[in-house]
Amino acid sequence: MTADKYTPLIGLEIHVALAAESKMFCRCATEFGRPPNTQVCPVCLGLPGALPVLNRGAVELGILCARALDAGVYPRMQFERKNYHYPDLPKGYQISQLAAPLAEDGRLSYTDDGGRDREVRIRRVHLEEDAGKSTHRPGEGTLLDFNRCGVALAEVVTEPDLHSPEDVRRFLEQLREILRHTGASEVRMEEGELRCDVNINVVRAGEGTPERTEISEVKNLSSFRGVERALQYEVQRHRAALDRDDPLTHETRHWDEEREVTFSARSKEEAHDYRYFPDPDLLPVRISRAMVREMEAEIGELPAQRRRRLEQDYGLSSYDADVLVSGGLAGYFEKVAEEGADPKEAANWIMGELAAHLNALDITIEELPVQPGQLAQLLGMVDSEEISGKIAKDVWGEMVEEGRDPGDIVQERGLRQISDDEQLEELAREVVGEHEDVVSDYLGGKEKALGFLVGQIMQKTGGKANPQLANEKLREIISREG
Ligand SMILES: [Zn+2]
Repeated sequence: MTADKYTPLIGLEIHVALAAESKMFCRCATEFGRPPNTQVCPVCLGLPGALPVLNRGAVELGILCARALDAGVYPRMQFERKNYHYPDLPKGYQISQLAAPLAEDGRLSYTDDGGRDREVRIRRVHLEEDAGKSTHRPGEGTLLDFNRCGVALAEVVTEPDLHSPEDVRRFLEQLREILRHTGASEVRMEEGELRCDVNINVVRAGEGTPERTEISEVKNLSSFRGVERALQYEVQRHRAALDRDDPLTHETRHWDEEREVTFSARSKEEAHDYRYFPDPDLLPVRISRAMVREMEAEIGELPAQRRRRLEQDYGLSSYDADVLVSGGLAGYFEKVAEEGADPKEAANWIMGELAAHLNALDITIEELPVQPGQLAQLLGMVDSEEISGKIAKDVWGEMVEEGRDPGDIVQERGLRQISDDEQLEELAREVVGEHEDVVSDYLGGKEKALGFLVGQIMQKTGGKANPQLANEKLREIISREG
C-alpha cells in the first residue's frame, strides 16, 4: 500500500500600495503616520456630489507592476463599484475593477528553498482604492482614521500554483524585490504596504479517488511571517480534516497572531453580494501602447535576470550574485570589473571591506566617495604585489574618508611593498641574529617558529615586507648558515 500524498493548493490575493504621492481619485497626500484625518477631502470622504478624478501617476505605477510580472495590459479598462457597507469606507462602496481589469495572464519565477526554479501564474492585476483604518478601543468604541482611504492599490491575484508555506514566503520575497526594483511600490511592510489574502485547500491522492477539502480564505495578513505561520496552521487543519473524512466548508477565516491559530469569520453561503457595476463617475480608461512601452523601458533588467547574468558573465557563485543584487551593490561591482579588476576579487572586496564601511558609516553606495575606478586601481596594486593585502585595507580606510587615489596615498606614505632582494636579505639576517633560540627551535623541527620570524620582519617594516619573499629569504639564510 502506498502512502497517501497530501498536496496543498495555495493562491494569493496581494494588495500592494503603489508609490503614488497622491491618492487614486483625489489630490490628498498619502504620507504615512500623519495625525488622523488630516489627509482627507470631500472625494475620499465620499461626501455627496464630490467627483473622483483618476490619478494618471497611479495608473502608470500599476502598468509598471503588471509588466514586471509579465501580465498583458488591456487597451481599455473600467472601474467598478464594489458595494458593501463598512465603517472605514464612508462611500458605501469601494472603487475597484472586476470585468475589465488593468492586466491579466502574467507569471513570476522564484527559487525555492531547495534551489529549484518555480513559476507561479498571475491571473490578474487590477487597480482599486484602499479603505480607512479602524481602531477598536474596548469600552470607548471605534476610532476612524480616513487618511488611508482612497490610497491607490494594485491587487495581484495568483493561480493556486504554490504548494507549501515556505514556497509562499519565497514567492512574496521575490515579488517584494521586483516591486521595489521597478519603483511601483516601496513595500514598507511595517506601514501595511503589502497585505495578503490566502486561499488554501489540500488534495489527498492515494489508493482511491483523490479527495480534496473546500477552500478556506485567510484574510488580511500583513507580514511574511504571519502568512507563513497561518498557512502552516491551515495545512495541518486541512490534512486532519481529510483524515477524518470531513471536507470542511468554504469559509473566510482570520489569523490570531497571539494564539497562532486561524478562526472562522463567516461561511461563504452568507458572503456579501457586492453587486459590482461600472462606476458612472469614471469613464472607461484607454491605455495606449506608447504608454505601456514607456513603462516597460523603465523596468530594465529584473533582479533574477541580473543574478543569472552576473553568474554567467563574471563567473560568480550564485551566493555572491545574490548578495550583490539584493544588497544593491551589483551596479558598483560591474563598474569595478569593467575598470579591469578581477571579478572574484572585486566581489570579495565589495561584500567584505566595502559593505562593512557602508554599515559602519551608515551611508549608501551612492554616498561612498570612492569611485569604482579607484577600487579597481587598489585591487590592481595588490595583484601586482605592489602593496600587501593588509596594507590595502589601511589604504582603503583612507580612500573611504578622503576619496583620494590609492596610488597617491601609497606614494605619500611610502607603503610600497618591500620586495627588494638585498633589503629583505639584510632584514632576515638581522632577525636570525636576534632570535637564535627561535632559529634552533625551527631547526629542531618546529615549523611554526618560522612564522614568528616572518612576523618580526613585518614588524620592522611596518607591515610592508612581502611576506612570501621574507619567508623564502629566512629559509634560505637558516639552511645556508644555521
Ligand atoms: Zn481626498
